[in-house]
Amino acid sequence: MSTRYPYVGPERIRVAALEQPEGTPMRSHDDLERWARDRATGELRAPFTYVVEVEGWLRLAPRESEHVACAGGREVLGAGELVLARDGGRWCVAEITNQSTGYCPDPTSWTAIAAALDRAGIARPPRFTVAFAFRWCACGALTVIKDDDYTCAACAAALHR
Ligand SMILES: [Zn+2]
Repeated sequence: MSTRYPYVGPERIRVAALEQPEGTPMRSHDDLERWARDRATGELRAPFTYVVEVEGWLRLAPRESEHVACAGGREVLGAGELVLARDGGRWCVAEITNQSTGYCPDPTSWTAIAAALDRAGIARPPRFTVAFAFRWCACGALTVIKDDDYTCAACAAALHR
């Protein structure tokens, strides 16, 4: 059973997200092909916003999209950013992270993400190319852990490992 992550970001972003389009579901490589065809060449080099919905399908949205908009405000099994690349005439996932401060998915969300890509027939790396840890401090601030530095970015308190 995969962990479900509810949205934990600012309420004003969640409310604004309800006005924005949801991400496009990727149920096959053809879905990804169609979606990529509608993107500008420059946009295809940038990372995209993705979520894995609780039904286990990947949804993609343009980079500037909030994860909560991509997910239609719902819970997710995973969220982050990914970069596409062309390999042997097909699109594949070249880079993928769990960077989403709206959902703060644990690195273990990889299992659900790998399953979503495999079931759609989209080639992928064996693991996150970059995995982040997220920690909430007693002061209320959220810190994205980088370089193994478990210190609150707002108040410099030590965060649990
Ligand atoms: Zn703090």
